[in-house]
Amino acid sequence: MAAQIIDGKQIAQQIRSDLARQIQERIEQGKPRPGLAVVLVGDNPASQLYVKMKQKACLEVGIHSEEHRLPASISQGRLLGLIDQLNSDPRIHGILVQLPLPDGLDEEEVIMRIRPEKDVDGFHPINVGRLAIGADTYVPCTPAGVMKMLDWINYDPAGKKAVVVGRSNIVGKPVAQLLLKRNATVTICHSHTKDLMDECRQADILVAAVGRPQMIKADWVKPGAAVIDVGINKIGKKTVGDVDFDNVKEVAGWITPVPGGVGPMTIAMLLANTVRAAG
Ligand code: NDP
Repeated sequence: MAAQIIDGKQIAQQIRSDLARQIQERIEQGKPRPGLAVVLVGDNPASQLYVKMKQKACLEVGIHSEEHRLPASISQGRLLGLIDQLNSDPRIHGILVQLPLPDGLDEEEVIMRIRPEKDVDGFHPINVGRLAIGADTYVPCTPAGVMKMLDWINYDPAGKKAVVVGRSNIVGKPVAQLLLKRNATVTICHSHTKDLMDECRQADILVAAVGRPQMIKADWVKPGAAVIDVGINKIGKKTVGDVDFDNVKEVAGWITPVPGGVGPMTIAMLLANTVRAAG
């Protein structure tokens, strides 16, 4: 039987409607409008597109958003100066620096400069550490979106075998930590993993965050598994995930499409983190 498709667009829309209502209520109670500052350095077309999508989403739910566009030639000092200014701006509750930064800028130093209370991406080492010890914190948006999708299908990870392919700081590691927190038995795979296919085949929950088009094949997937595809890859003009969707959907129990899966969830979680940051 073909898998149930987890429609990220629909879930994200529901989250956005709920947030819009919450923001409206806040305003009626005299609380400040949540504010997000997005910092975009250079002219990477993918970054420009992501920033545009994030700002459109903010506008739609009633978050005040402002974009700070800087040339790739900006100095580290001036960029840090802008972060300081946003850190002390009371209208701004969340700060997002669109990554990657152009060569020559020190990403780590920039992220560490953001006040952890305004770090709605959850990339500051304080928030990363809080996640690692299982404390309440800003969870990075894509991993938070993955967990929301499992919740949406009422999938309880407790006692399940979860395999996360990819160990990046922004997706693989935090997804693994969140699954562990929810009592799954978690395996993290990466480019040095010996028998990736065999690892994947054991997964009740399989999260692909690799960046290799359609790498996960149908015979890598346990029948009935929940398959969450984080990958965004271009094949010509077509966008595909890390999972061979057409064939895997015949084996899996649940599967997320690309596009229209984890992508919209990531933006919805950014909005949720910003509303949370506003207190
Ligand atoms: P990274 O490139 O930072 O990490 C990729 C990971 O995959 C690494 O851990 C790498 O291993 C591992 N890997 C690479 N090749 C293989 C292989 N052949 N076998 C096993 N593991 C492999 O990517 P990100 O985590 O940033 O992103 C992953 C994907 O998710 C990308 O397609 C990206 O575009 C997408 N993405 C989607 C988002 C969304 O909103 N939907 C948000 C963020 C990312 P090693 O560590 O050993 O190098």
